[in-house]
Amino acid sequence: MTIDVVVREVGMRDGLQSIPDIMPTATKKTWCTAEAAAGMPEIEVSSFVPPKLLPQLADASEIVAHALTIPKLTVAALIPNLKGAERGITTGVHKLNYVMSVSEGHNQSNVRRSCAQSMEDFARVVDLCAAAGPKRPKVVGCLATAFGCTIEGKVDEDRVRRFAAEFVAAGADEIVVADTVGYGNPAAVGRVFTAVIAEVGSLPVAAHFHDTRGLGLANVHAAVEAGVRAFDASLGGFGGCPYAPGATGNIVMEDLVFLLEAMGLKTGVDLDKLIGVREILKTALPNLQLYGNMAKAGLPKNFARAA
Ligand code: ZN
Repeated sequence: MTIDVVVREVGMRDGLQSIPDIMPTATKKTWCTAEAAAGMPEIEVSSFVPPKLLPQLADASEIVAHALTIPKLTVAALIPNLKGAERGITTGVHKLNYVMSVSEGHNQSNVRRSCAQSMEDFARVVDLCAAAGPKRPKVVGCLATAFGCTIEGKVDEDRVRRFAAEFVAAGADEIVVADTVGYGNPAAVGRVFTAVIAEVGSLPVAAHFHDTRGLGLANVHAAVEAGVRAFDASLGGFGGCPYAPGATGNIVMEDLVFLLEAMGLKTGVDLDKLIGVREILKTALPNLQLYGNMAKAGLPKNFARAA
């Protein structure tokens, strides 16, 4: 089946890293399998960061290995640096999502170096992946805090376009523009994605939104209008960022799929099955706060999946 928009589950990384509870490895595998069975085409399953910094994701290699056994699933993992890339490549993961913040202050606090240093490191990651041969992972350049930052406040919109161009020049296969702390609004989203898409040509550009201030789905709509055809979200909308105080969850995957399908954009995801996967999270982590309107209200009687 062809799809119009790629939705990507990031709760296994973005969500789990921001809560104190550690989800058992077996539950992560069950979740991953169940969500793929609901039609999820891509999952960011973990992050190759030092386990002492994020013990919640210490089982990254095992989770990647499991996810790679699931047919047709694109398996991605986040990396903050070259060391993470080295670990990721050995697992055979399909995509490495390399993250740097557009804001200097946030990048310093998140990965402890300047944006220029992060960009130099990215070039080394590209080289390392190229050396891995034909089965090399794709390298994704992710721009965090693209719409504002908890440390610096305003982020210059043109910096986002310039860093996207630098990622492309260094050999990125894809760009992600992320509103890490939920400062974005539809007007800014429209401007930034239009500029980035014009800059990077045919390279895929994905959007990563948090619903911190309730504008998540409005931002999705603005990004769709600007031409974006790939979105990150998390089941039940849980998540946040340990380095971004006040950042709450990602946009809710179930509500995102509803929005896209209702607008006639095929995602390949079965919404009823997807809502059912929430039970796995609720059972494993009973204290976990899950969000989402679709799970509460159910599908409307006039709903039809995009044809
Ligand atoms: Zn995020």
